[in-house]
Amino acid sequence: MNEEKSLEARIEKAVKSSLIVKKSTRELIKETTSFPNLNSFFNQFSSFFIHKRLLFLHRFDLFGIDDEMQMPYLHLCNLPKIKNKDSSENESKALTHIVSNELEVFSNYKNNILEQMFGINDSNRDIISEDFKDIVAYFVIQFIRTNPNIKTLINADQFDYNIMKNVLKNYENTIELDAFLEEIGAGFEEGKGEIDPIIKSKIEKLILLFASGLTKNVEKLIDNTSKMLPNFILSFHLSSSLWLNNLLAKSGLSFSEYLKILDDLYRYRLIENKDTIFWCENCSIENPSYTQHKGRIAPSKISRSKCLNCNKSQSYGSIFSLNQVLKEAILSKDGLLPVYFGWLLEKEEIEYEVGEYSGGYENDFIIKKSILVECKMFKAEKDAVAVRSEIDSSLSQIKKHINKLNSEGFEIQQAYLLWNRNNNEEELQMKLQTRYNELFKKYGFKIICPDKIEDIVNKMK
Ligand SMILES: [Zn+2]
Repeated sequence: MNEEKSLEARIEKAVKSSLIVKKSTRELIKETTSFPNLNSFFNQFSSFFIHKRLLFLHRFDLFGIDDEMQMPYLHLCNLPKIKNKDSSENESKALTHIVSNELEVFSNYKNNILEQMFGINDSNRDIISEDFKDIVAYFVIQFIRTNPNIKTLINADQFDYNIMKNVLKNYENTIELDAFLEEIGAGFEEGKGEIDPIIKSKIEKLILLFASGLTKNVEKLIDNTSKMLPNFILSFHLSSSLWLNNLLAKSGLSFSEYLKILDDLYRYRLIENKDTIFWCENCSIENPSYTQHKGRIAPSKISRSKCLNCNKSQSYGSIFSLNQVLKEAILSKDGLLPVYFGWLLEKEEIEYEVGEYSGGYENDFIIKKSILVECKMFKAEKDAVAVRSEIDSSLSQIKKHINKLNSEGFEIQQAYLLWNRNNNEEELQMKLQTRYNELFKKYGFKIICPDKIEDIVNKMK
């Protein structure tokens, strides 16, 4: 029993670890400074307060739903009024209907999963990387859980990730999909209108699980072979309103602020439409129909479309991918914050070092050999106790780091904590002053919020 769990856990861990971009802060700063679009964007950043609020979110807040990472896309959709946060009533029945109709097409194929889900057949399978196979394996596991025969095989005494890869080598004749697909089929039978809520939630869960297992590898595949996947990408629209509500809650942004940010990102060509769909809530329940738009369209222009049948405003969903450089910075271990900070230092030609020292301080900046800046990205929605313990541990780390640096011949005179929260918790800082007396008195310790980054950098000149 435990083995099954640990297998899943291990695969999940493997998949999740690949969601983190492993480039160093130094590398990311270098890429950023040599990319004109991002330079122009960052040149405006000192006045882009709302943009900072979005892009300095922890990656789990920006791309995750309930702490499950999704594909690193930004979604836009007409936001239904929320009646009840956990109710499925908030979702578009018409959209669910449209997507389920399209997904049903999959069940008509009885070939292997790769071909079925991704349109990859034997002849072009070799171009798919080993990495991608691992991701598919993860997805396969989700199917396995509904499949007793395979489950038995998996639960055999000797089983680990390598053996699984061996067994599922080419994913042929190893997976019995019928039972699973019948379950989906039954849930979406035509004429039934309503989808059984249990089935529906199972499928949604599956879509979310699949999405959480998806990584840059699948994204790459979608980028390269989007023509093979017109139906597949539709399922991403299902999570748009959940994602958007989640994001607005975590960032504190209003819908119109979010739209403004998207428009700016679009203007600087830092985001790109992956897929845009329009459908009519009015007409689609009886006759599912939708329009899929390919190509560039500015975020704020998407809501203009009208239904060809009834001339009412249509519902819409659009998915945007981020420019590679920006995305990698956001998905890096400490996110965009240290990358932007480093970009500012480069721009002002201030001498600094980052990541020169081993031993857990890889994202600390040492400026002019005398100022220590630690960058920290925190997740949103922490309570006061959690915030206090985070500050506490950051302070203790900074203290240790200063001692270490001074013992190595540096003369640190000033220490900052640069974080992604919008307030600097002055009250909390006061309380910690006794405990970290030296840090506050001798090193003039301060917490710096995103809105003040440019001021601090100017002072360092
Ligand atoms: Zn209509």
